[in-house]
Amino acid sequence: MQAEIISIGTELTTGAKLDTNSQWLSLELAEIGISVIAHTTIADDLDEMVATLRTAAERSEIVLITGGLGPTLDDLTREAMAKFGNVPLVQHEPSLEHVKAMFAKRNRPMPERNLIQAMFPEGSEPLPNPRGTAPGIWMPYQRQDGEISHVAAMPGVPSEMKQMFRQQVLPRLDGSGQVIRRARINLFGVGESQAEEILGDLTARGRDPDVGITVHEATITLRITAVASSVDECRAKIEKTRETILNRMGTLVFGVEDEELEHALVRLLRLRRASLSTAESGTGGLLAHRLTGVAGFETCYMGGVVVPTNTAKRELVSVDPMLIRQYGAISQEVALAIAKGCRQRFGTNFALAVTEWPEFDPDDPLGQVPASFVALAGPNVAKVEKVQHFGDPAIAKSRTAKVAMNLLRLQLIEG
Ligand code: ATP
Repeated sequence: MQAEIISIGTELTTGAKLDTNSQWLSLELAEIGISVIAHTTIADDLDEMVATLRTAAERSEIVLITGGLGPTLDDLTREAMAKFGNVPLVQHEPSLEHVKAMFAKRNRPMPERNLIQAMFPEGSEPLPNPRGTAPGIWMPYQRQDGEISHVAAMPGVPSEMKQMFRQQVLPRLDGSGQVIRRARINLFGVGESQAEEILGDLTARGRDPDVGITVHEATITLRITAVASSVDECRAKIEKTRETILNRMGTLVFGVEDEELEHALVRLLRLRRASLSTAESGTGGLLAHRLTGVAGFETCYMGGVVVPTNTAKRELVSVDPMLIRQYGAISQEVALAIAKGCRQRFGTNFALAVTEWPEFDPDDPLGQVPASFVALAGPNVAKVEKVQHFGDPAIAKSRTAKVAMNLLRLQLIEG
Protein backbone atom coordinates (compact mmCIF):
# COMPACT_ATOMS: atom_id res chain seq x y z
CA MET A 1 0.00 0.00 0.00
CA GLN A 2 1.31 3.43 -0.87
CA ALA A 3 0.19 6.92 0.00
CA GLU A 4 0.73 10.46 -1.09
CA ILE A 5 0.09 13.83 0.45
CA ILE A 6 -1.31 16.99 -1.06
CA SER A 7 -0.96 20.32 0.76
CA ILE A 8 -3.28 23.05 -0.34
CA GLY A 9 -2.91 26.78 0.09
CA THR A 10 -1.55 29.77 -1.74
CA GLU A 11 0.21 30.77 1.48
CA LEU A 12 2.32 27.62 1.00
CA THR A 13 3.14 28.05 -2.71
CA THR A 14 4.07 31.71 -2.20
CA GLY A 15 6.47 30.73 0.55
CA ALA A 16 4.64 32.70 3.24
CA LYS A 17 4.14 29.47 5.23
CA LEU A 18 6.13 26.27 5.30
CA ASP A 19 4.34 22.98 4.72
CA THR A 20 5.06 21.06 7.90
CA ASN A 21 1.92 18.92 7.69
CA SER A 22 3.36 16.66 4.98
CA GLN A 23 6.46 15.94 7.01
CA TRP A 24 4.44 15.05 10.09
CA LEU A 25 2.01 12.86 8.15
CA SER A 26 4.84 11.01 6.37
CA LEU A 27 6.45 10.14 9.69
CA GLU A 28 3.10 8.92 11.02
CA LEU A 29 2.48 6.76 7.95
CA ALA A 30 5.97 5.29 8.17
CA GLU A 31 5.18 4.15 11.70
CA ILE A 32 2.48 1.86 10.33
CA GLY A 33 4.52 0.74 7.37
CA ILE A 34 2.84 2.80 4.64
CA SER A 35 5.34 4.40 2.30
CA VAL A 36 4.73 7.84 0.90
CA ILE A 37 5.66 8.28 -2.75
CA ALA A 38 4.91 11.98 -3.27
CA HIS A 39 4.30 15.32 -1.60
CA THR A 40 2.52 17.88 -3.76
CA THR A 41 1.90 21.49 -2.79
CA ILE A 42 -0.65 23.46 -4.77
CA ALA A 43 -2.22 26.90 -4.64
CA ASP A 44 -5.95 27.54 -4.07
CA ASP A 45 -6.80 26.69 -7.67
CA LEU A 46 -9.76 24.43 -8.42
CA ASP A 47 -8.61 22.93 -11.73
CA GLU A 48 -5.10 22.27 -10.43
CA MET A 49 -6.56 20.58 -7.36
CA VAL A 50 -8.83 18.30 -9.41
CA ALA A 51 -6.00 17.31 -11.75
CA THR A 52 -3.59 16.64 -8.86
CA LEU A 53 -6.21 14.60 -7.02
CA ARG A 54 -6.86 12.46 -10.06
CA THR A 55 -3.18 11.69 -10.65
CA ALA A 56 -2.70 10.88 -6.99
CA ALA A 57 -5.79 8.68 -6.50
CA GLU A 58 -5.11 6.74 -9.71
CA ARG A 59 -1.70 5.58 -8.47
CA SER A 60 -1.90 5.59 -4.65
CA GLU A 61 -4.40 3.79 -2.44
CA ILE A 62 -4.30 6.55 0.15
CA VAL A 63 -4.33 10.28 -0.62
CA LEU A 64 -4.14 12.69 2.31
CA ILE A 65 -5.05 16.33 1.75
CA THR A 66 -4.56 19.16 4.25
CA GLY A 67 -5.93 22.69 3.97
CA GLY A 68 -8.66 24.48 2.06
CA LEU A 69 -11.59 23.22 4.13
CA GLY A 70 -12.49 26.60 5.64
CA PRO A 71 -15.59 28.70 4.84
CA THR A 72 -13.96 31.40 2.71
CA LEU A 73 -14.21 31.64 -1.07
CA ASP A 74 -10.63 30.53 -1.57
CA ASP A 75 -11.19 27.31 0.39
CA LEU A 76 -11.86 24.94 -2.49
CA THR A 77 -11.04 21.46 -1.24
CA ARG A 78 -14.64 20.21 -0.92
CA GLU A 79 -15.56 21.57 -4.38
CA ALA A 80 -12.43 19.98 -5.84
CA MET A 81 -13.29 16.62 -4.28
CA ALA A 82 -16.87 16.72 -5.62
CA LYS A 83 -15.64 17.63 -9.09
CA PHE A 84 -12.93 14.98 -9.03
CA GLY A 85 -15.44 12.33 -7.84
CA ASN A 86 -18.01 13.60 -10.33
CA VAL A 87 -20.67 13.90 -7.62
CA PRO A 88 -22.71 16.84 -6.23
CA LEU A 89 -22.21 18.43 -2.80
CA VAL A 90 -24.97 17.47 -0.41
CA GLN A 91 -25.84 18.78 3.05
CA HIS A 92 -25.01 16.68 6.09
CA GLU A 93 -27.40 17.50 8.93
CA PRO A 94 -25.25 16.48 11.97
CA SER A 95 -22.32 18.49 10.58
CA LEU A 96 -24.57 21.53 10.20
CA GLU A 97 -25.55 21.14 13.85
CA HIS A 98 -21.87 20.90 14.82
CA VAL A 99 -20.94 24.08 12.94
CA LYS A 100 -23.90 25.92 14.47
CA ALA A 101 -22.99 24.64 17.94
CA MET A 102 -19.38 25.82 17.57
CA PHE A 103 -20.62 29.35 16.88
CA ALA A 104 -23.18 29.22 19.68
CA LYS A 105 -20.45 28.14 22.08
CA ARG A 106 -18.36 31.14 21.08
CA ASN A 107 -21.42 33.37 21.34
CA ARG A 108 -21.15 34.55 17.77
CA PRO A 109 -23.72 34.56 14.93
CA MET A 110 -22.96 32.06 12.19
CA PRO A 111 -22.11 33.69 8.86
CA GLU A 112 -24.05 32.28 5.88
CA ARG A 113 -20.77 31.21 4.28
CA ASN A 114 -20.17 28.65 7.02
CA LEU A 115 -23.08 26.56 5.74
CA ILE A 116 -20.63 25.28 3.15
CA GLN A 117 -18.78 23.44 5.92
CA ALA A 118 -21.76 21.10 6.28
CA MET A 119 -21.71 20.24 2.57
CA PHE A 120 -20.00 17.03 1.47
CA PRO A 121 -19.41 15.23 -1.81
CA GLU A 122 -22.15 12.62 -2.20
CA GLY A 123 -20.94 9.19 -1.05
CA SER A 124 -18.28 10.63 1.26
CA GLU A 125 -18.15 10.50 5.03
CA PRO A 126 -17.61 13.55 7.29
CA LEU A 127 -14.73 13.32 9.75
CA PRO A 128 -15.60 15.11 13.02
CA ASN A 129 -13.37 18.02 14.06
CA PRO A 130 -13.70 18.59 17.81
CA ARG A 131 -11.16 21.45 17.73
CA GLY A 132 -12.53 23.53 14.88
CA THR A 133 -15.53 24.18 12.69
CA ALA A 134 -14.38 22.44 9.52
CA PRO A 135 -15.10 18.68 9.52
CA GLY A 136 -12.84 16.57 7.34
CA ILE A 137 -13.88 14.34 4.45
CA TRP A 138 -13.29 10.62 3.83
CA MET A 139 -14.09 9.64 0.29
CA PRO A 140 -13.70 6.40 -1.69
CA TYR A 141 -12.65 6.66 -5.32
CA GLN A 142 -13.05 4.01 -8.00
CA ARG A 143 -9.90 3.88 -10.13
CA GLN A 144 -9.73 3.13 -13.81
CA ASP A 145 -8.15 -0.22 -13.01
CA GLY A 146 -11.20 -1.12 -10.87
CA GLU A 147 -9.39 -0.79 -7.52
CA ILE A 148 -10.64 1.54 -4.77
CA SER A 149 -8.47 4.37 -3.41
CA HIS A 150 -9.42 6.59 -0.48
CA VAL A 151 -8.98 10.32 -0.14
CA ALA A 152 -8.95 11.98 3.29
CA ALA A 153 -9.23 15.76 3.48
CA MET A 154 -8.21 17.39 6.76
CA PRO A 155 -7.92 21.00 7.99
CA GLY A 156 -4.70 22.93 7.35
CA VAL A 157 -4.29 24.07 10.96
CA PRO A 158 -1.65 21.60 12.27
CA SER A 159 -3.24 20.96 15.69
CA GLU A 160 -6.65 20.22 14.14
CA MET A 161 -5.10 18.10 11.41
CA LYS A 162 -3.07 15.99 13.85
CA GLN A 163 -6.02 15.22 16.08
CA MET A 164 -8.23 14.34 13.14
CA PHE A 165 -5.55 12.13 11.61
CA ARG A 166 -4.98 10.16 14.79
CA GLN A 167 -8.63 9.83 15.81
CA GLN A 168 -10.37 9.49 12.46
CA VAL A 169 -8.02 8.67 9.62
CA LEU A 170 -5.50 6.32 11.22
CA PRO A 171 -8.15 3.76 12.29
CA ARG A 172 -9.40 3.70 8.69
CA LEU A 173 -5.99 2.79 7.28
CA ASP A 174 -5.14 -0.89 7.07
CA GLY A 175 -1.43 -0.35 7.02
CA SER A 176 0.89 -3.05 5.84
CA GLY A 177 0.64 -4.96 9.12
CA GLN A 178 4.24 -3.91 9.66
CA VAL A 179 5.63 -1.54 12.26
CA ILE A 180 8.75 0.56 12.02
CA ARG A 181 11.04 1.53 14.89
CA ARG A 182 14.14 3.68 14.79
CA ALA A 183 17.19 4.21 16.99
CA ARG A 184 20.18 6.52 16.77
CA ILE A 185 23.75 5.99 17.95
CA ASN A 186 26.12 8.96 18.11
CA LEU A 187 29.87 8.89 17.70
CA PHE A 188 32.75 11.29 17.52
CA GLY A 189 36.38 11.14 16.51
CA VAL A 190 36.38 9.76 12.96
CA GLY A 191 35.30 11.05 9.59
CA GLU A 192 32.23 9.78 7.80
CA SER A 193 34.10 7.63 5.30
CA GLN A 194 36.30 6.14 8.00
CA ALA A 195 33.21 5.28 10.03
CA GLU A 196 31.70 3.66 6.99
CA GLU A 197 34.84 1.60 6.50
CA ILE A 198 34.81 0.34 10.10
CA LEU A 199 31.10 -0.45 9.89
CA GLY A 200 31.67 -2.50 6.73
CA ASP A 201 28.67 -4.61 5.70
CA LEU A 202 26.47 -2.96 8.34
CA THR A 203 25.68 -0.06 6.04
CA ALA A 204 25.08 -2.24 2.98
CA ARG A 205 21.92 -1.51 1.04
CA GLY A 206 19.06 -3.85 1.76
CA ARG A 207 20.43 -4.90 5.14
CA ASP A 208 17.83 -5.64 7.80
CA PRO A 209 17.71 -3.54 9.93
CA ASP A 210 18.92 -0.72 7.76
CA VAL A 211 21.85 1.38 9.07
CA GLY A 212 22.40 4.87 7.64
CA ILE A 213 25.05 7.47 8.42
CA THR A 214 24.59 11.23 8.79
CA VAL A 215 27.03 13.89 9.97
CA HIS A 216 26.27 17.09 11.83
CA GLU A 217 29.11 19.38 12.89
CA ALA A 218 31.56 16.46 12.98
CA THR A 219 29.28 14.27 15.09
CA ILE A 220 28.39 11.09 13.26
CA THR A 221 24.96 9.58 13.78
CA LEU A 222 24.12 6.01 12.85
CA ARG A 223 20.41 5.59 12.22
CA ILE A 224 18.99 2.11 12.62
CA THR A 225 15.59 1.42 11.07
CA ALA A 226 13.88 -1.88 11.76
CA VAL A 227 10.69 -3.12 10.08
CA ALA A 228 8.84 -6.08 11.57
CA SER A 229 5.39 -7.35 12.42
CA SER A 230 5.61 -6.28 16.07
CA VAL A 231 7.31 -3.64 18.20
CA ASP A 232 9.10 -6.34 20.18
CA GLU A 233 10.53 -7.86 17.03
CA CYS A 234 11.74 -4.41 15.92
CA ARG A 235 13.38 -3.84 19.30
CA ALA A 236 15.14 -7.21 19.21
CA LYS A 237 16.52 -6.48 15.75
CA ILE A 238 17.70 -3.02 16.80
CA GLU A 239 19.36 -4.40 19.93
CA LYS A 240 21.36 -6.94 17.95
CA THR A 241 22.56 -4.32 15.49
CA ARG A 242 23.36 -1.93 18.33
CA GLU A 243 25.62 -4.55 19.91
CA THR A 244 27.44 -5.13 16.63
CA ILE A 245 27.95 -1.39 16.23
CA LEU A 246 29.28 -1.03 19.78
CA ASN A 247 31.69 -3.91 19.22
CA ARG A 248 33.05 -2.37 16.06
CA MET A 249 33.09 1.30 17.07
CA GLY A 250 34.13 0.92 20.73
CA THR A 251 34.80 4.17 22.54
CA LEU A 252 33.99 6.24 19.47
CA VAL A 253 30.36 5.83 20.57
CA PHE A 254 29.37 8.43 23.14
CA GLY A 255 25.59 8.44 23.24
CA VAL A 256 22.20 7.63 21.81
CA GLU A 257 19.22 9.55 20.41
CA ASP A 258 19.55 13.31 21.18
CA GLU A 259 22.59 13.01 23.44
CA GLU A 260 25.51 15.30 22.65
CA LEU A 261 29.13 15.08 23.81
CA GLU A 262 28.46 17.43 26.73
CA HIS A 263 25.82 15.04 28.09
CA ALA A 264 28.27 12.16 27.90
CA LEU A 265 30.97 14.25 29.55
CA VAL A 266 28.82 15.49 32.45
CA ARG A 267 27.58 11.94 33.03
CA LEU A 268 31.15 10.61 33.23
CA LEU A 269 32.38 13.45 35.44
CA ARG A 270 29.55 12.84 37.90
CA LEU A 271 30.20 9.11 37.85
CA ARG A 272 33.87 9.69 38.67
CA ARG A 273 33.02 12.50 41.13
CA ALA A 274 35.45 14.68 39.22
CA SER A 275 35.31 18.44 38.59
CA LEU A 276 36.07 20.50 35.48
CA SER A 277 36.82 24.08 34.51
CA THR A 278 37.46 25.63 31.09
CA ALA A 279 39.51 28.45 29.56
CA GLU A 280 38.73 29.29 25.96
CA SER A 281 40.06 31.59 23.31
CA GLY A 282 38.93 30.47 19.83
CA THR A 283 35.68 28.91 20.97
CA GLY A 284 34.72 32.10 22.83
CA GLY A 285 32.84 30.41 25.65
CA LEU A 286 31.12 27.72 23.62
CA LEU A 287 32.43 25.00 25.92
CA ALA A 288 30.94 26.79 28.93
CA HIS A 289 27.70 27.34 27.03
CA ARG A 290 27.38 23.68 26.09
CA LEU A 291 28.31 22.30 29.48
CA THR A 292 25.96 24.59 31.38
CA GLY A 293 23.13 23.41 29.15
CA VAL A 294 23.24 19.91 30.65
CA ALA A 295 20.96 19.13 33.59
CA GLY A 296 22.99 18.64 36.76
CA PHE A 297 26.15 20.33 35.46
CA GLU A 298 26.58 22.28 38.74
CA THR A 299 27.89 19.23 40.52
CA CYS A 300 30.91 18.88 38.22
CA TYR A 301 31.44 22.02 36.13
CA MET A 302 32.96 24.71 38.32
CA GLY A 303 33.33 27.57 35.86
CA GLY A 304 35.12 28.96 32.84
CA VAL A 305 36.89 32.00 31.47
CA VAL A 306 37.34 33.44 27.99
CA VAL A 307 40.96 34.36 27.29
CA PRO A 308 41.30 35.86 23.79
CA THR A 309 44.15 38.28 24.58
CA ASN A 310 47.61 37.88 26.03
CA THR A 311 46.52 40.03 28.97
CA ALA A 312 43.55 37.79 29.67
CA LYS A 313 45.78 34.73 29.45
CA ARG A 314 48.16 36.30 31.94
CA GLU A 315 45.61 37.84 34.29
CA LEU A 316 43.00 35.11 34.35
CA VAL A 317 44.97 31.89 34.00
CA SER A 318 48.53 33.02 34.85
CA VAL A 319 50.18 32.24 31.52
CA ASP A 320 53.77 33.56 31.46
CA PRO A 321 54.05 36.24 28.70
CA MET A 322 57.54 34.90 27.95
CA LEU A 323 56.00 31.59 26.93
CA ILE A 324 53.67 33.33 24.49
CA ARG A 325 56.56 35.34 23.06
CA GLN A 326 58.65 32.20 22.67
CA TYR A 327 56.10 29.81 21.14
CA GLY A 328 53.27 32.07 19.98
CA ALA A 329 49.72 32.11 21.37
CA ILE A 330 48.69 29.31 19.01
CA SER A 331 51.00 26.58 20.22
CA GLN A 332 50.80 23.42 22.22
CA GLU A 333 52.97 24.94 24.95
CA VAL A 334 50.58 27.85 25.49
CA ALA A 335 47.51 25.58 25.25
CA LEU A 336 48.92 23.45 28.05
CA ALA A 337 49.87 26.46 30.13
CA ILE A 338 46.30 27.81 29.83
CA ALA A 339 44.87 24.45 30.91
CA LYS A 340 47.22 24.18 33.89
CA GLY A 341 46.59 27.79 34.94
CA CYS A 342 42.84 27.28 34.66
CA ARG A 343 42.95 24.09 36.71
CA GLN A 344 44.82 25.90 39.44
CA ARG A 345 42.59 28.95 39.39
CA PHE A 346 39.38 26.97 39.77
CA GLY A 347 40.87 24.20 41.89
CA THR A 348 39.30 21.49 39.74
CA ASN A 349 40.45 17.95 38.96
CA PHE A 350 40.49 18.69 35.25
CA ALA A 351 40.70 21.74 33.02
CA LEU A 352 40.19 22.08 29.27
CA ALA A 353 41.81 24.85 27.25
CA VAL A 354 41.34 26.05 23.68
CA THR A 355 43.68 28.47 21.85
CA GLU A 356 42.61 30.79 19.05
CA TRP A 357 43.28 30.04 15.38
CA PRO A 358 44.12 32.27 12.40
CA GLU A 359 41.40 33.16 9.97
CA PHE A 360 41.23 30.96 6.90
CA ASP A 361 41.88 32.73 3.61
CA PRO A 362 39.94 30.85 0.92
CA ASP A 363 41.59 32.96 -1.85
CA ASP A 364 45.07 31.74 -0.98
CA PRO A 365 45.48 28.23 -2.39
CA LEU A 366 48.94 27.90 -0.86
CA GLY A 367 47.82 29.23 2.49
CA GLN A 368 48.32 26.94 5.42
CA VAL A 369 45.36 25.12 6.89
CA PRO A 370 44.61 27.05 10.09
CA ALA A 371 44.95 25.07 13.27
CA SER A 372 44.23 25.52 16.95
CA PHE A 373 45.24 23.52 20.00
CA VAL A 374 43.10 22.06 22.71
CA ALA A 375 44.66 20.91 25.95
CA LEU A 376 43.68 18.87 28.94
CA ALA A 377 45.28 19.18 32.37
CA GLY A 378 44.48 16.86 35.24
CA PRO A 379 45.96 14.71 37.94
CA ASN A 380 48.84 12.90 36.19
CA VAL A 381 47.67 13.99 32.78
CA ALA A 382 48.68 16.74 30.38
CA LYS A 383 47.50 16.24 26.82
CA VAL A 384 47.37 18.45 23.74
CA GLU A 385 45.58 17.89 20.47
CA LYS A 386 45.96 19.89 17.26
CA VAL A 387 42.70 20.71 15.49
CA GLN A 388 43.04 21.49 11.79
CA HIS A 389 40.32 23.63 10.30
CA PHE A 390 40.12 22.32 6.78
CA GLY A 391 36.35 21.87 6.73
CA ASP A 392 33.49 24.33 6.78
CA PRO A 393 34.65 27.43 8.74
CA ALA A 394 31.08 27.84 10.00
CA ILE A 395 31.43 24.76 12.18
CA ALA A 396 35.02 25.37 13.35
CA LYS A 397 33.98 26.53 16.83
CA SER A 398 31.55 23.71 17.38
CA ARG A 399 33.98 21.08 16.13
CA THR A 400 36.82 22.42 18.28
CA ALA A 401 34.64 22.44 21.40
CA LYS A 402 33.71 18.85 20.65
CA VAL A 403 37.36 17.81 20.20
CA ALA A 404 38.10 19.29 23.62
CA MET A 405 35.19 17.55 25.32
CA ASN A 406 36.09 14.28 23.62
CA LEU A 407 39.67 14.54 24.85
CA LEU A 408 38.45 14.53 28.45
CA ARG A 409 35.73 11.94 27.76
CA LEU A 410 38.33 9.45 26.52
CA GLN A 411 40.61 10.28 29.45
CA LEU A 412 37.77 9.52 31.88
CA ILE A 413 37.01 6.22 30.16
CA GLU A 414 40.51 4.99 29.52
CA GLY A 415 42.78 6.92 31.84
P1 ATP B 1 -9.72 26.05 9.01
O1 ATP B 1 -10.91 26.49 8.27
O2 ATP B 1 -10.06 25.20 10.21
O3 ATP B 1 -8.77 27.14 9.34
P2 ATP B 1 -8.53 25.10 6.55
O4 ATP B 1 -8.61 23.71 6.06
O5 ATP B 1 -9.27 26.14 5.82
O6 ATP B 1 -8.90 25.03 8.09
P3 ATP B 1 -6.28 26.59 5.72
O7 ATP B 1 -7.08 27.85 5.66
O8 ATP B 1 -5.84 25.98 4.46
O9 ATP B 1 -7.03 25.50 6.60
O10 ATP B 1 -5.02 26.82 6.66
C1 ATP B 1 -5.17 27.37 7.92
C2 ATP B 1 -3.80 27.67 8.51
O11 ATP B 1 -3.18 26.43 8.80
C3 ATP B 1 -2.83 28.34 7.57
O12 ATP B 1 -2.85 29.73 7.62
C4 ATP B 1 -1.49 27.83 8.05
O13 ATP B 1 -1.05 28.62 9.13
C5 ATP B 1 -1.80 26.47 8.52
N1 ATP B 1 -1.47 25.49 7.49
C6 ATP B 1 -2.18 25.17 6.40
N2 ATP B 1 -1.59 24.21 5.69
C7 ATP B 1 -0.44 23.92 6.33
C8 ATP B 1 0.63 23.00 6.09
N3 ATP B 1 0.62 22.17 5.02
N4 ATP B 1 1.65 22.95 6.96
C9 ATP B 1 1.65 23.78 8.04
N5 ATP B 1 0.67 24.66 8.31
C10 ATP B 1 -0.36 24.73 7.49
